[in-house]
Amino acid sequence: MLFYSLNKKSPSVNFREAAITGQAPDKGLYFPERIPQLSEEFLKTFKSKSKGEIAYEVIAPFVGDTIPEAELRRICDETVNFDFPLKKINDSTYSLELFHGPTLAFKDVGARFMSRCLGYFSKGSDKKATVLVATSGDTGSAVANGFLGVEGVDVVILYPSGKVSKIQELQLTTLGKNITALEVQGTFDDCQTMVKQAFADETLNKQLSLTSANSINVARWLPQQFYYFYALQQWKESTRPVISVPSGNFGNICAGLVAYVAGAPINHFVAACNANDIFTNYIETEKLVPKTAVPTISNAMDVGNPSNLIRLLELFGNNHDKIKEVISNCSVSDELTAETIKEVYKTEKYLLEPHGAVAYYGFQQYLKKYPNKKGIILETAHPVKFDDVVKKIINENVEIPKSMEYLFKLEKKSIKIKPHFDQLKEFLMSAAVVK
Ligand SMILES: *Cc1c(COP(=O)(O)O)cnc(C)c1O
Repeated sequence: MLFYSLNKKSPSVNFREAAITGQAPDKGLYFPERIPQLSEEFLKTFKSKSKGEIAYEVIAPFVGDTIPEAELRRICDETVNFDFPLKKINDSTYSLELFHGPTLAFKDVGARFMSRCLGYFSKGSDKKATVLVATSGDTGSAVANGFLGVEGVDVVILYPSGKVSKIQELQLTTLGKNITALEVQGTFDDCQTMVKQAFADETLNKQLSLTSANSINVARWLPQQFYYFYALQQWKESTRPVISVPSGNFGNICAGLVAYVAGAPINHFVAACNANDIFTNYIETEKLVPKTAVPTISNAMDVGNPSNLIRLLELFGNNHDKIKEVISNCSVSDELTAETIKEVYKTEKYLLEPHGAVAYYGFQQYLKKYPNKKGIILETAHPVKFDDVVKKIINENVEIPKSMEYLFKLEKKSIKIKPHFDQLKEFLMSAAVVK
């Protein structure tokens, strides 16, 4: 299987090359040359297969011969070795809880898969890879955790000081080993700008082999298909589910759409967004127009120029009618998000966090039009990851899961830097000299 650049000005590459470089030399996103169709045999039998087996069968055609079968099976088993329960909220709505992984967010799946692939690819190479990532919270913790102890790979995370939740900060700053947290006295946008500058800097790239770990990387994007099958495995209703996905950079929903195009029995998708409504705008005008991101309480979806939308268009051959048939859109305000959290907690005794609440509200809007449908919302993080927001809405503390209690005993270690590229460069250069 080859991957081509969506800018069409770079040669096609295999999975290994696409995973190592992240982005094509022409700055395009890599896209698989075809979407392998699921066999009838698979569709008949996947409900009784293990999570690892499903993962392997789904991803193997994309990986091709770049990772040997036994190794890929091991990577798949390790990637999904936690629970993905489907919980019933009420008669029409279920929640697929994607927060039972080590950092309590769905990004664990992509990060765990990608880190293990890069670990495999870096074997036998004498050059260390440096993964550089800017985070508003969830990405950094999942990437740090996924790469912890992976030989041949160093991870440097930039996060905005004081702008991530307590538990997110602990997840970023207490790991040590090959993980370094840079605490930037600035905003998430500052962090992202500095990372972009690093990728464009010639001297740095001569010294270091820099890799990004965001969802444009196919090794992080494609494994996100796995849990759509785990949802279907647990689905006992007689009609196919509608799946509502809280979307920011559109990596998650785009992976679900790959599974759909491959033949997964899903009825329809809802792309649930916060005030950042680029997709709604596209549905209405057929145009993709980036905007400056506006801050919301579902801040992991504050994206003004969603990178994966271009993949979504490619999946459907830019056919606007087809896209409207498969995906409904919505844009949910902070006020309605908060109201949804409060209401669902009161009436259903189910605690949503802001991103899941956006998906829930989006699905209820869809049900108003199609009252007989049933569906699944993706709950992408544990409420404790956004407890500062949730606490205020429900007027109660959010209980810390037992599995996270150890974090509060660890010591935070970060390097404080100003939001200036020179400081990042100096740090990276000195790290390079040490080696
Ligand atoms: C990253 C994130 C999202 C958005 O996912 P995309 O793949 O960027 O659309 C939604 N919810 C949470 C909790 C996240 O961390």
